Order: sequence, then structure tokens, then C-alpha cells
Amino acid sequence: MIKREDIDKILNATRVEDVVGSFVELRKRGVNYIGLCPFHNEKTPSFNVNPAKGIFKCFGCGEGGDAVSFLMKHEHYTYPEALRWLANKYGIEIEEQVLSAEEVAQQSERDRVYQINEFAQKYFQEVLFSDMEGKSIGLSYLRERELSEETIKRWGIGYCKDTGDDFSRKALAKGFTKEELVSAGVSLINANDGSIYDRFRGRVCFPIYNIGGRTLGFSARTLRTDKVKAKYVNSPESLIYSKGKVLFGLHLAKNEIVKQDECYLVEGNMDVVMMSQNGVTNVVATSGTALTEDQIRLIKRYTKNVTLLYDGDKAGIKATFKAVNLLLEQGLHVKTLLFPDNEDPDSFARNRTQDEFQDFIKNNAENFILYKTNLLLADAQNDPIKKADLTRDIIETISLIPDLLERNAYLQQCSKLLDVKEEILSAELAKIIRGKAVKETLKKEVAEAAPVNPVVNNAPQVNEVEKDISSIKEQSIISILFNYADRITTQEVYNSEGKIEKKDLLVANYVVCDIFNDNIAFNNELFNSIFMIYKDCIYNNESIPELRYFTSHQNPEISKLATDLVMTPYVISPNWEEKNEIKVPRPENKDTMDKYIKDSLLDFKLHKINEYIEDVKKRIPLAEGDYQLELLNVLTSYLGIRNNIAKLLGRVMIK
Ligand SMILES: [Zn+2]
Repeated sequence: MIKREDIDKILNATRVEDVVGSFVELRKRGVNYIGLCPFHNEKTPSFNVNPAKGIFKCFGCGEGGDAVSFLMKHEHYTYPEALRWLANKYGIEIEEQVLSAEEVAQQSERDRVYQINEFAQKYFQEVLFSDMEGKSIGLSYLRERELSEETIKRWGIGYCKDTGDDFSRKALAKGFTKEELVSAGVSLINANDGSIYDRFRGRVCFPIYNIGGRTLGFSARTLRTDKVKAKYVNSPESLIYSKGKVLFGLHLAKNEIVKQDECYLVEGNMDVVMMSQNGVTNVVATSGTALTEDQIRLIKRYTKNVTLLYDGDKAGIKATFKAVNLLLEQGLHVKTLLFPDNEDPDSFARNRTQDEFQDFIKNNAENFILYKTNLLLADAQNDPIKKADLTRDIIETISLIPDLLERNAYLQQCSKLLDVKEEILSAELAKIIRGKAVKETLKKEVAEAAPVNPVVNNAPQVNEVEKDISSIKEQSIISILFNYADRITTQEVYNSEGKIEKKDLLVANYVVCDIFNDNIAFNNELFNSIFMIYKDCIYNNESIPELRYFTSHQNPEISKLATDLVMTPYVISPNWEEKNEIKVPRPENKDTMDKYIKDSLLDFKLHKINEYIEDVKKRIPLAEGDYQLELLNVLTSYLGIRNNIAKLLGRVMIK
């Protein structure tokens, strides 16, 4: 591992024109260099290198990035390999991370825990296939469950003998200490005489692996039918294993999850093993624990689409509700599928071919709102109070969805199912969302600078045509942040006595506070996440991230956008701007920049308020009575705000 300070040293020494120049013939043109792009075939150069910003960009094929990403793309290096290449070029010594004595001790302690679990896994499997008890009890059980030998081996499943301390004795003989075996979770200590015995005795042991396929612990199933024993015993938390951070089967499922762009989530390990034996391999399990945010983050690395396959019993249904809420909050798309009575994914997969199983999922997976609504409706039939509760419950769930368009779509479906007017649901939703926004705002300290511009509130609804214009407006804000975040701008703001005064502010501070104070959300998720990075730094009083933070960001979408927005062709033509949907700010001096920033913010808000106005207009004819009056009031106030913005921008609004 390369130390953070060393990485900074390397990046500070790196000159992008040197690095690219080692592979491409560059010519100076103005402040930039140009050359023939190494990533596509061309006869006239459209490949640009900007030394000041440390980035390159091809206007022919769109490739772009910093020196590190150039090496990664051109030389197919990994990130550390690229850094080592640069360190070598600039004569920077890399100190491979030096650990303190304590860290070394912990490191080797962790290694021991890994070794113990790996030893246990091999030993349990050997018992399963070669030992009398292992074969007659463990293996015959797995055969009964119709697992093939190949499956058993692929998943590393084994058996721990019921003799009490068979495994522990073998492990001691191997040189592990009592303390190590207990802390790794494979042995337990007898309080009476201090001897140790096997935690998993008499159980079939399913290894739990990390993403890289190393054994972290076990989930062990008893084969006794008496109810005294817990059906499953899992490894306790250890130096290497934390149950909320692991998904069973992910090490074998991840590639298929990416390929299918879909992850099936089940409860039991056996479901995963059986489904994968039947050819359905994009499946992972929570291993009987409640789904955690860490686990969802793991899934999110590979896909945004999750289908929950749970048992149709009461416990299964309850688990689904909770899981769905968490998944939605993280912006995932969720479907649910309950299995018929007395079936679970395991038994269901066992009796069907791969195609039958896949078809069953495709035909029966429901979007969660249909599923939850139908389920609760059956319970609430003819009971108006129950139905009101249920409506609120479902709207709460919908309010968790971060994406506005999606939220709206769910609202429509829900309105049909519940037979409740969409306006009523929409009003309820707005109330919940506003409540949340207020809570959020109260939590944060109000920024030092509260800008003068009008306040815009509430959640917009956007249609498809509007969406493109909207992302251009949003992009221009991000472009200002990338290009000018650390410059000083002079703007009119409210001071602490509520009076307007001219103040010198960092551009990032002014832009972020202005938008955040007005409670405006970006529709585009990428823009929003970039905006939030700036916002978090400002509200946590941290320094503004440098441009380099974004151009060398590990999320390729962010680094690409940063490169695109700060790198412009030598001569910018309006055609190029239009084609690339990029508006390039080119203020020659500070006054022009100040005005450009102010106008862009107003323009952005003008667009937002128009979105809100269109939305309210659509709702008014559908609403009735008091609600309609309320909407008319809202419309009047929006129109007032719009006129104010337009006046500030010097435009006349005709409509
Ligand atoms: Zn190119």
C-alpha cells in the first residue's frame, strides 16, 4: 500500500504534459498542448493537454482524465502501478506503509484468525468426505438435500464431528493456541476446567467468504430435529468477520450480478447454494440477519436492481418491509417475490429447471408498491381507519425514494390500487417530504452567507422533455463549481442584521449556500452527488476540494465530467457547446465572472420555478374544494417568485 502523503508527493510532482509526452508527440498551442489522439485514429489533432489543470482531453473520441488515468488507459496499469511508474519517473521514494508495533501485532493477529478459519474449512470438508460420522451424517444430509459433490466442493461445505473437541484438539496440535481458537470463534471455553470444545459440533458448516473468496467464519446447521438446539449457529464477530458487512455468496455471484444487472436477495444460505446449483448465480443471502446499510452498499457496487425472494410466511413478509425501506433509501430499484405456501427458494429451485425458475421470477416479481399495497389491502378491507393507516404507511415508504420521477410513478400506481385521488396522496407525500427537509435544515447550521435571491421550495415533478433542459441548467452550476470554486466573488448577501450588503465570498460557498438555503434539489443524480461533496465540505468547515480531487476521482463518471467541464477546445464554437450540451463560462475578468455566477444561479432557479409552476397548473383542474384553493394560492406565490427572478435577470415574463 502506498501512503497518502506519498501519493500527494507523486501527484504534486507530476506534469501531465511530461507523462502524455512520453507516449504522444505534443505541440504547444497557446497555453495547451495538442497532438494526435492515441485512443482513436485521426489525421488532424484533436487531443489536448492542459498543464495548468493537469488534465488531457480528446475532442474527437471523448477520452480524458489526469496523468494517472492516462497511464491506466494507455498502459493498462492498475492505480498503484501507475503511481509507481510516476514515482520512478520523478525520483520520488515510496515508503511502503510502515506499521506501528501495535499495528504489526494486530496485523499478525488478523492473519492468525484467517489461518484458523481456513484450516477449519479444509478440516471440516475432509471430515465430510472421509470420516465415518462425516459421511453417514453430514454428507448423507447434503445428498438428501440434493446437493451435488461439485456444489459441495465449490461452496467448501464441511461437517464438524459431534464428539465435542475433535476439531479443537486437531487445531491445537497444528500449533494454534486456545486463546486464538476462541477469539477466531471456532472454539468455546469450558468455564469449569478451562478446556476448549468445538463451537460447531454436530453441524454442517457453510463457510462465509469475503468478496475475494477468503474464509471469514461459518454458518453451521444442526442436523438434530429436537427443538432445543438453534437451527443455525454462526461465527461470532471477530477481527475479520462482521456479520452486517458480508453477504453470503457474493464472491461467486458478483460477476453474474454485473452481467444481469440484477441481484437476487434471499434469506438462507441454502437458498443461494441450491439456486446456484440450478444455474441461477446472481444471488446472495443475508444469512438470516436483517439487511444492513453496509450490505446494501456492497450490492450497489454491482447493480441498482434488487429482487427480494423471501418466504411467504409472516416473518418473511415483515423482513421484506424493512428491507425494502432500506433499499429504497439507498436509491435501489426493488422488486419482491413471495414463494407459494410451504415453498422457499431452495425447495422451489430444487424441483425446477433453470429456465422454469428464471421464468417464475420474471413473471411473478412484483414492484414493491403493488406487493405491499395488495398485502395490506387484504387486511384492511372495509375498515376505513385501517385503510387510512395503510395509505400513510405506503406514502411514507414512497417518500424514501430519492428520485422524483420514480416517486411520482409509484404515486400514480398507488392511487389506482387504493382508489384514492392522486392529489390527496401527493399532498400527503409533499407534507412528509417537507417535514423531513425541515428536520434536515434544522440539523445543519445556517451558513454564514444567506444570499438575497428569492426562496423556492417544494419538490418538483419533471417530465421527459423538460429533463434535458433541466440537466443543462444543473450542469452549468456544477461547471461553475469545478472552474471557479476557490475564486473570490463579490455578491450581495444578507448580513447578520438581515440587511443587504456586498461581500467577498468563495465562489463555492456562495453557490452552495444559495442553492442549499433555497432547498432546491438537483434532478440529476451525478450532479447532486458532486454538489453534496462541496456542500459537506462547506458545512463541515473543511477546505474546498481542489479540482484534482474530482479529475482523479475513483468514480469514472465524476472524473470524466470534471475533465469535460474544465477542458474546452482551443476555439469554442457555439455549435460545439450545443452538440456537447456544455455551456462554457468564459468571463474575462472578475466583474464578468461575478455577473455570470449570479445570472447562472438565477437562471437555474428560474428554470426550477417554471417546473413547479407547470406542475401546479396541471394539478389545479383535477383538485376539488379547499385543496384547489390551496393550489391556486401556491400558484400565485410561485408566479410572484418567478417575476422577481425574471426582473433580477432583466427578462420579461409574458405567460
Ligand atoms: Zn481520441
